[in-house]
Amino acid sequence: DIFPGDLSNNPMQRNTPKVLFATTKPAGFDAPELIAFNETLSEEIGLGPYKNQDLDFLVGNHLPGNVKTYATAYAGHQFGNWAGQLGDGRAILAGEIINKNGRKTEIQWKGAGATPYSRHADGRAVLRSSVREYLMSEAMYHLGVPTTRALSLALTGEDVVRDMMYNGNPQLEKGAVVIRTAESFLRFGHFELLSAQREYNTLEDLADFTIENYYPEITTDGIQKYKDFFEKICTRTADLMVEWFRVGFVHGVMNTDNMSVLGLTIDYGPYSMMDEYDLNFTPNTTDLPGRRYAFGKQGQISQWNLWQLANALHPLIKDDKFLEDTLNHYGTYFWEAHDQMLCRKFGFDELLESDEEFFTNWQGLMQELQLDYTLFFNQLEKLNTESDFQSLFADIVYIPLDNRKLKKLEDFAGKYEARLTTNTISREESLALMKHSNPKFTLRNYLLYECIEEISTGKTEMLEKLTRALENPYEELYPEFSVKRPSTYDDTTGCSTLS
Ligand code: AMP
Ligand code: MG
Ligand code: MG
Repeated sequence: DIFPGDLSNNPMQRNTPKVLFATTKPAGFDAPELIAFNETLSEEIGLGPYKNQDLDFLVGNHLPGNVKTYATAYAGHQFGNWAGQLGDGRAILAGEIINKNGRKTEIQWKGAGATPYSRHADGRAVLRSSVREYLMSEAMYHLGVPTTRALSLALTGEDVVRDMMYNGNPQLEKGAVVIRTAESFLRFGHFELLSAQREYNTLEDLADFTIENYYPEITTDGIQKYKDFFEKICTRTADLMVEWFRVGFVHGVMNTDNMSVLGLTIDYGPYSMMDEYDLNFTPNTTDLPGRRYAFGKQGQISQWNLWQLANALHPLIKDDKFLEDTLNHYGTYFWEAHDQMLCRKFGFDELLESDEEFFTNWQGLMQELQLDYTLFFNQLEKLNTESDFQSLFADIVYIPLDNRKLKKLEDFAGKYEARLTTNTISREESLALMKHSNPKFTLRNYLLYECIEEISTGKTEMLEKLTRALENPYEELYPEFSVKRPSTYDDTTGCSTLS
C-alpha cells in the first residue's frame, strides 16, 4: 500500500506535498462523558445502537482494527483574502463506510486532538461550539437543507483555554468532541491548496475522484468533464443558498475553506437563525465592521467563493470565457430559484412578473417593522381565519406597532390577498405549500444559549426537548418555542463566536 501521507515518523510535519492528508491519531481522553447520541443516524449509516463501550470510540480512545485515521489539509480565502494552507487542524477522519442506502458516509471527530496541520492551535473544541454544531446540523437536516450531520456529542473531561472574542480574556471551557458525518467533507479549499501549490496532477486526481464518487451523473470526458463538474458545483451551491434564505440561516463565516464541493452546509461556527428580518444581520462579531457574511449577502458571497474555485480549477478547464459565463449565469439562476422559493413561502403557485415588486415591497416592510421572519409566515397562514388583524402581528415585531406601521401592514395584507386570488390552485393547496416551505420551529440562538447553560450544570432536559422540536420543524410541538426572541436575549452574539 502506498500511503504517502503517513507521517508516523514525523508527527510534527505540517506540509504533505502532493497529497492532501497526513495520518494522525486522536489524543485520547481519560474521563469522557456522553451527552448526546443520534440513534437514528447511527442506524442509517449502519453503526447500530449505542452501547456503553462505544463511548471510547465516540471520543477516539478506541479505534477498530480496520480504521486508519488521518487529517486532510486545505487552504482558503478568509474574509476576502488568500490565507494559504489553514485546515484541518482539528478534524480527524476515520474513513468512510457504506450506509444502508448504499451511499458513502465519511466519519470524523472534531476536537479530538491536534493533527499535523494544527500549527500552534490545540486541536480541541469546547462544549459550547460542539453543542451548537451538533444541534444545528441536525436541525438543518430535518428542515431539509443539505448539511453535514452529527452522530454524537461527548465531553472529553479536559478543560480547554480559550480567549473570549468579545473581551479578550482567557477562559477555561469544557472540552468536547463531536462526531460528524457527511458523504464527503471535501471543500473548495482542498482544490485551492493543490492549485496554489501547482500540483496539477494531484488536482486532476482529486477532481476525478470527486466526480467519480459524488457526481456520478457526469459522464463526459476531458475538459468537458471538469466544466460539467464546475457547473454542477455552482448549481448545488446556489440551491443551498436559496435554502438558507428559505429558513433564515446565516452561516456567519463563509470563507472558501468552509464551502463544501457537494453543496452541503458545513462548519457550524458563529452561525445564527434570523429572528427579526434583517438583510444586514451577521451573528459573527468579528465580521461587524464589514458585514461581509451578513444574511442578505450570502448569494453574492457564494458567487465570489465560486470565483475562487474557478481560479483553482482553471488549470483543468483552461477556458476563461466558459468560467466567466458560468459565474455570470450563477447570479441569474440564483435569483430565479430564490424568487421561486419565496413564491412557495407565500403560497403562490407560479412566479409572476409583478412579484419582483411585491417581494421588494415585502422586504422593505419586514426590515422597517422588524418582523420575526419565521413567525411572519406562520401568521400569514392565519390571515383569512383570524378576525383580529392587529393581534396576528403585534407579538411578532421587535419594535412597537404604532398606527402608521399598522397601516403599512394592513396595506401589505391587502396586496397579499389580492395576489392570492391570481393563484390557479385552491386555498387549501396554497396553505399546504406554505406549511411545507415555512418551518414552525427554528433553533434560535437564545434557545441554544439556554441549552448550553443548562448542559454546563449537568442537565440535559432542554437538549432533549430541543432535539424533539428540531426533528419536527414543520409542526408546533411546543407553543413556548413559537414566540419571538425575548428582549432579555437581545445580545447573545458574543456567546457564539467562541470555538
Ligand atoms: P474556522 O474559521 O473555524 O473554519 O477555522 C479554520 C481552520 O482553523 C480550521 O479548518 C482548523 O484547521 C483550524 N482551527 C480552528 N480551531 C482550531 C483548534 N482549536 N486547533 C487546531 N486548529 C484549529
Ligand atoms: Mg472551518
Ligand atoms: Mg470552526
